[in-house]
Amino acid sequence: MKFYQLSREQRLDALKASGDLDTQSYELMLKNQPIPAEIAANMVENQITQYALPEGVVQDVLINGTCYQIPLVTEEPSVIAAANNSAKLVRQWGGFQVTAKRGGLIGQIVFDHVSDIETKAQLLKTKADEIQAIAASAYPSILKRGGGLRQQKVTIVGQDFLKLELLVDTKAAMGANMVNSICEAVAQAASQWLQQPPLLAILSNHALEDLTTVTLKLPVTALTRGHLSGQTVAQRIVAATEFAQLDINRAVTHNKGIMNGAIGVVQGYGNDTRAISAGIHSYAAQSGQYQPLSQWRLVDTDLIGQLTLPLPIGAVGGSIGIVPLAKANQQLGQATDPLIMQAQIATIGLASNLAALRALVTEGIQKGHMHLQYKALAIQAGATGSEIDWLQNALSQQPIVNLAIARQLLVEKSK
Ligand code: NDP
Repeated sequence: MKFYQLSREQRLDALKASGDLDTQSYELMLKNQPIPAEIAANMVENQITQYALPEGVVQDVLINGTCYQIPLVTEEPSVIAAANNSAKLVRQWGGFQVTAKRGGLIGQIVFDHVSDIETKAQLLKTKADEIQAIAASAYPSILKRGGGLRQQKVTIVGQDFLKLELLVDTKAAMGANMVNSICEAVAQAASQWLQQPPLLAILSNHALEDLTTVTLKLPVTALTRGHLSGQTVAQRIVAATEFAQLDINRAVTHNKGIMNGAIGVVQGYGNDTRAISAGIHSYAAQSGQYQPLSQWRLVDTDLIGQLTLPLPIGAVGGSIGIVPLAKANQQLGQATDPLIMQAQIATIGLASNLAALRALVTEGIQKGHMHLQYKALAIQAGATGSEIDWLQNALSQQPIVNLAIARQLLVEKSK
């Protein structure tokens, strides 16, 4: 039986047998209680329950010659199947190539309505050594880890905003709290030098220092679908991307297909999905026109796909250390280094994009998508156990599908 045909328990058994899960992570996933009650009660305010989402695995994803089992959390049917399809296809043709960098996070300290602004900008520039020392004493432990404040930049913005930007190497952490602590300490000193309170002091989620680029190359023959030649499918994928470069309505949906996979992995690794999403969309819009994040080119007889994402991911910090599943997922994905997580997130983003584009320019998105959506509809209609698969298949044969029809089929079956 194929992995997707196994029961949940059998899938976990297989991952344990292959050495991808140790006994502790296996039991945690089997037990299926994502966050111990006491931890959940202390993670957020007014906690009343836990909101669960399914997690699946994208299997045998070949990245820079290493094979990974990548956890993906999503509520949307078809995302994991689509990513697996692309991962399997790309694996046969050399896998994904990734380059990832990790340059640090920017913090901003901003003053508004600054009078005599040029003089004050110069003043801040003369304080570089003091700023360095304040940053060090605001978060000494990051120095011990080899990180800390790397660069300072003073800029006048508009007529009367003065901005001091600090680039902080946050090592294995995402670094939001770390950078905020440093920014607030520096802001306090700067407010004395400038004789006015700061407007704000906080990190920026525009994370150009942590860009991650993934590339794949497929011979067009691998893309043949039905009566459409691989060459035609590849040309249509390129054309769909060119259209997205010109049309924001399409670009945003092109990127949503990337986020389907990428954000699911971010979630699995217990990172801040809002921070990563905001950073990715700001990157897509940095030219002034919101752009598709991936590029697809036809070079001779190869289709080449490339995706670059800013990914300030943490392997430690935030809730990662206290949510047991985030840790177990690091084990499953062999991803305790943020650079590996960045590589996996970008890769699953590109894999999802390939699957979506390939379906879109051939048979359309609904065929595969709706078959999986019918499972949710079957459950909604009241199907249980083996009825779910039966009703899913029965709905796939119907010219029109809705909840009433699903209920009717179920009633007829049980007559
Ligand atoms: P933390 O505040 O948890 O700081 C990182 C922690 O990781 C520190 O306790 C540090 O220990 C520990 N650590 C252990 N090993 C390492 C290592 N190798 N490198 C670095 N740190 C290490 O998390 P972050 O500063 O990363 O902040 C992330 C959180 O901030 C997320 O939960 C996010 O949701 C939230 N946030 C996001 C914002 C945004 O994106 N705009 C705004 C505000 C918060 P030690 O102290 O001993 O160095």
